Amino acid sequence: MSLPNFRRRLGESLPRVLERIAAAAERSGREPGAVRIVAVTKGHPPEAVEAVLGAGLADVGENRVEELEGKALAFQGRGVQWHMVGHVQSRKAPRAARLATILHSVDSIRLAGRLSRAAEGAGRRLPVLVQVNASGEAAKGGFPAAGTSREALAEALEGIAEVSALPGLAAVGLMTMAPFTKDRAVVRATFRRTRELLEAAAGIEGFDARELSMGMSNDFETAVEEGSTMVRLGTTLLGPRPR
Ligand SMILES: *Cc1c(COP(=O)(O)O)cnc(C)c1O
Repeated sequence: MSLPNFRRRLGESLPRVLERIAAAAERSGREPGAVRIVAVTKGHPPEAVEAVLGAGLADVGENRVEELEGKALAFQGRGVQWHMVGHVQSRKAPRAARLATILHSVDSIRLAGRLSRAAEGAGRRLPVLVQVNASGEAAKGGFPAAGTSREALAEALEGIAEVSALPGLAAVGLMTMAPFTKDRAVVRATFRRTRELLEAAAGIEGFDARELSMGMSNDFETAVEEGSTMVRLGTTLLGPRPR
């Protein structure tokens, strides 16, 4: 798609998305301004990023390190806040730690350790979110946080504490993905469990319980109702990704 096409599409989609966020925030007694849109441009050419910036958004999400690298280079000096939202392979941790403004997908202690060392080597403290698997789906990444038992909660908090203790990272919240289902109750329960975990983690040393990255194109209103501070939106803003 060309730049004018991306601009036209955003011109239609963004006002609607903003309205839907505002309505969802209002339903739950929250300020619409407390929810940040991360425009996920993965799979789209640089023109999509150009259009996103032109629409007044500064937060751009990518899910592959290679793609982040290319786009970060192309948009150097433009004030883009780069959000790495996808799984990062350990060997790519150094590049991700250099390039990302914030990394949403710390899904293991091993990756956290690598990112911390790389960030220290690059002379920075990398803001991260701890990704939690709050649905229990086997295919979902993240620290296990699905159980409601005391043991399951303790284990999830232990993982958050370990990440928070790493010197190269600044852990500022949690990220989760809801199951792919039309069952709203299941989606809501996943988001709610994640928010409750954030509240339970608020006392952990080194953990800043500030951000909740929850909600994608098909479930962001539920996520906002349950306390999301960052919605990661691709398709609903930019249309389907090219194959
Ligand atoms: C692709 C992706 C999104 C955006 O998905 P849409 O359904 O297109 O909004 C959000 N979060 C992550 C982690 C992704 O990989």
